[in-house]
Amino acid sequence: MENMSRMLHQARERKSAVGAFNAYNYETVKGILAAARAFEAPVIVAFGEKYLANMSLSDIYAVTDSLSRQHPFPVCLHLDHCSSLPVIEAAIGAGFSSVMFDGSALSYEKNLRITREVCKMAHAHGITVEAELGSLAAGNESHEGSEEDRETYTDPQQAHEFSESTGCDALAVSIGTVHGLYRKAPQIRLDILEAIAKQVAAPLVLHGGSDTPDSLIRACIERGITKINVNTEISGSVIEKTAELLHTEKPHLAVLSLRQQEFVSEAVSRALSLFWGKS
Ligand SMILES: [Zn+2]
Repeated sequence: MENMSRMLHQARERKSAVGAFNAYNYETVKGILAAARAFEAPVIVAFGEKYLANMSLSDIYAVTDSLSRQHPFPVCLHLDHCSSLPVIEAAIGAGFSSVMFDGSALSYEKNLRITREVCKMAHAHGITVEAELGSLAAGNESHEGSEEDRETYTDPQQAHEFSESTGCDALAVSIGTVHGLYRKAPQIRLDILEAIAKQVAAPLVLHGGSDTPDSLIRACIERGITKINVNTEISGSVIEKTAELLHTEKPHLAVLSLRQQEFVSEAVSRALSLFWGKS
């Protein structure tokens, strides 16, 4: 498996973004890779601490590593939002190729100091680090961050200092997207994104890709976003299709597993057609 570095720089060159999709079982990993193959796109399989009850770090690594060996395009296994150093160390030990340290709830100084430590530790193993500056609000059905999260836009000048001084490989910014589904019409500050992109050399990451209108996603990519995280939208679409299926059929569990892989792949394909397009 690859770290994020090459794929994000490739995305920047072709004015597109790499999709990062949350996985928590065999079906999700399988569906994500099937979609990536169809688009000949690199892809990031994201795994959050929240899903440790579904799979251990070594389980998700084993499944993703095995499937990626039969897959012709780059795959990165990335630890999503993590504020715990022991979990980050465990993910590195388990074989993840990339990690995110989310210090967005900490003071600027503390976030900077710990992000720098994480970068030092991860880079020694060839592992990339995503950091976060500014904070996203929690929308409806959010499966990330916490309900208490308040929106704080990323300050462009601070983002410059932060990325230079930490050496992070990618920086998640807050420009008005939310985790989950919007409670009111999205107010995306493209002006702030433009200012950040001018000052920050590291690739920029947009969290809260679910439910964001296509035109705004395109506008963000044009202004320098090179990684987009999607979670809620994939889950919502798969659940909806599963409910429809069960309304008319009562398949064997093995058949349901195959159908759910297709549902994941369809939802991820929709996102990839917007983020990456055809190779
Ligand atoms: Zn996020």
